[in-house]
Amino acid sequence: MKRLTGFQPTGNLHLGNLLGAMRPLVRDQQEVGSIAMIADLHAMTMEHDPQVLRQKTLEVATLLLAAGVDPKRTPLIAHSQIPEHTELHYLLECVCHFGEAARMIQFKEKSAAHSPGFSAPSEGPGAGGKQSAPVRLSLLSYPVLMAADILVHDVHQVPVGEDQNQHLELARTLATRFNARYGETFVVPEGVRPESAARIMDLADPSAKMSKSARSSAGRIGLLDPPELIRRTISRAVTDTVGVVRHDPENQPGVTNLLAILAECTGEAPGAYTSYGALKRDVTDAVEALLAPIRKRYAELSDDPGYVREILAEGKAAVRPAALATVRRARGAIGLLD
Ligand code: ATP
Ligand code: MG
Repeated sequence: MKRLTGFQPTGNLHLGNLLGAMRPLVRDQQEVGSIAMIADLHAMTMEHDPQVLRQKTLEVATLLLAAGVDPKRTPLIAHSQIPEHTELHYLLECVCHFGEAARMIQFKEKSAAHSPGFSAPSEGPGAGGKQSAPVRLSLLSYPVLMAADILVHDVHQVPVGEDQNQHLELARTLATRFNARYGETFVVPEGVRPESAARIMDLADPSAKMSKSARSSAGRIGLLDPPELIRRTISRAVTDTVGVVRHDPENQPGVTNLLAILAECTGEAPGAYTSYGALKRDVTDAVEALLAPIRKRYAELSDDPGYVREILAEGKAAVRPAALATVRRARGAIGLLD
């Protein structure tokens, strides 16, 4: 079974990324063959700064290593360094319908957020004069690129959160359609939800998930945040006026989130608490105990910037032969000269 887990270098990796994706990846890497991908091309679907993109790509790679990704078991790759991703992307665009891409909820949400008043694509992207910022065509086509990322590596399983379900379905549709029309070429991937993968909510708005791209950083714990900032973020976490510490996602989402973070960080069920303050102090200690060694390892790895680039080159060398073979199969099937 081969898996692929992607991380977009769109901002600072946070506690949600660690508990929901990085730790399951590290924990399962003995038994499951995974590829860890820094999705730099996906980070270009919205307005971006070239310097920041390069810096974040290296930062995310370094943090994955610092959190325990073993590059000998888990090839660590930068999306753009493997051109077969983009080559297969085009072939898959030729089996994807415009309507299928346009239906993607993330496209609708992000295009609307980026350009208030934008109501494409049924009226034609860029047609109206209302939008305040252009929506990149890559925002529309990126789920097809994501399908290419998955299919090119013959991935069997993709760990997905709810926000990615629709994209995984598209990858399955495109693989199935291509196979039916042009002959067996791709593995049709399955979505898996690692059982222990937690979904961590924003500390300032527990109705939203903690996210790199949330406008405010008030509810986010960055993996490289200094201890003092972490303490402040947790002490300001939104709770409620109930005054009882208990697991109640419906009525006490903030407290429930803190309890979940505590349980995830310590690996134990939380004890009884008589005050929110005491709970927050223990959450702070538990988060600090988890992040301190990662920060330390990150600092060590950052002393030698060449090292991470070498690891990425090794990851590329490890996955490329199979990716080339898949593209060759697809090219042949769809009618291109070899
Ligand atoms: P963005 O806002 O740019 O989409 P993100 O915070 O959602 O950033 P991604 O790079 O999209 O992060 O996701 C990386 C991995 O982390 C994915 O496997 C995703 O499911 C997981 N992940 C992201 N946010 C959380 C969260 N709050 N709790 C648990 N897992 C999360
Ligand atoms: Mg995301």
